[in-house]
Amino acid sequence: MIRAAAAFAATSLLLAQAPILAPDATRLKADVYTLASPAFEGRLTGAPGQIKAAHLVADRFKALGLQPLGKSPEPYFLPYGLELRTATVAGSTFTLGSRSIPFGPGAATYRLTPLETKLLFVPEGVDPGPAAKGQWIARFAPASGEPDFAALLQATAASGATGLLLLARPEKDTLAPLRERALRFLQRGRYGFPGDGASPSGPPLAALDGASCHALGLDLSALHKAAAPIELGAFRIAPKMEVTPLTPVNVAGLLPGSDPKLKDEIVVLSAHEDHLGIVNGQLHPGADDNASGTAVLMEVARLLKEAKPRRSILFLSVSGEELGLFGSRAFVANPPVPLKAIVADLNTDMVGRNGVKTIAVTPARIPDATGTLTRDTREIAAELGFTLTDEADEYWKRSDHYTFAKAGIPAIFFFGGMEPDYHQATDTPDKVEPEKLANVAELLRRLTLKVADSDTRPSALPESAWKAWKWPSR
Ligand SMILES: [Zn+2]
Repeated sequence: MIRAAAAFAATSLLLAQAPILAPDATRLKADVYTLASPAFEGRLTGAPGQIKAAHLVADRFKALGLQPLGKSPEPYFLPYGLELRTATVAGSTFTLGSRSIPFGPGAATYRLTPLETKLLFVPEGVDPGPAAKGQWIARFAPASGEPDFAALLQATAASGATGLLLLARPEKDTLAPLRERALRFLQRGRYGFPGDGASPSGPPLAALDGASCHALGLDLSALHKAAAPIELGAFRIAPKMEVTPLTPVNVAGLLPGSDPKLKDEIVVLSAHEDHLGIVNGQLHPGADDNASGTAVLMEVARLLKEAKPRRSILFLSVSGEELGLFGSRAFVANPPVPLKAIVADLNTDMVGRNGVKTIAVTPARIPDATGTLTRDTREIAAELGFTLTDEADEYWKRSDHYTFAKAGIPAIFFFGGMEPDYHQATDTPDKVEPEKLANVAELLRRLTLKVADSDTRPSALPESAWKAWKWPSR
């Protein structure tokens, strides 16, 4: 207790030497409107709109005098490699024995990578036994209702089989929605780091309609009468994968610390600037997700530029978040500063809605993660009259702070809460509250300084310390 109070007094002293700037709601609002405007095309990672957003952030960092960490010609950019892997439906095939059929509305899968296996037909209500181990099984779709694919896949894995081919029932094809979703998945594709060796495939699931079964030589009525598993022979899925290389960027600017020793330690402030782009011809502006956090990041940089923090502060605008936290993962895999020097990541994602002085914070009660960052945030929230809730714990793995936490770096995440416009074309800037952005920026300004000026690095607190904390509910 005494230590924390002493640190706060020191902070106040330092602050007395530097002008304390106030957040500017007008500027924050303008930044959200700009980033969410049609000119930025929904900021899809690697697309021109995202690079345009990255330039906007880089120009701001430059104007504020932050130090770049990259190479020219755009030293604020930290580029990284990313690939989009899609399958062309026309060039992809299923083969059973010697017969092949193309992918299409009647025959679809989530495989983006080739597969060669044996196929075992398993009648309804029959346990395939050890014969299923290490190969795909074929089953009829359940007799009634929309099939529960999660449960079917779970049962498949439990039997030791590696994948499931669902066959349409002779009397009724209930698999059309599944095949449609699978085809959309193949065409939308999956992102990955070049050479990461990760399979971009979705769940090990394929589905055929009656005509496709017939074309592969399957006699559905004979199979329907079978009482025991039947070996169907060699089964092959050959998707024609196309790889599109992308070169997205993160944007980083450093505010050097003032303490001769502590300046080698770094507090990272992160927010993702990317969003979903244009989906089915519709602009997804991503005003709350996450033009809001990006505007706050730039504003906190402005508020702190004269603050002379003891530790250095790294302002990090990442891309690739919506596609799978790729930007933060690339940053942590190839950090421009020693990873050990990073004492914390403070992340904001979707912070512009749901009440101007209420925000959720995580970790609130996550063992081994809840620590001094949350404690300090609670103290600052009390100073500011902010209502802090614990409902973001269920989103702990859903934004870029998680990448840092996984690397062993204390992290904290501010989240305004879920809303019906999430990932919709209706996430528009008029719904973002500028006053809230200003309030969040002030919360972040104070927390960043507190962390940067503290004598000790952030750390986890024992459960006994945070279990007693009370959280208001919204
Ligand atoms: Zn999102």
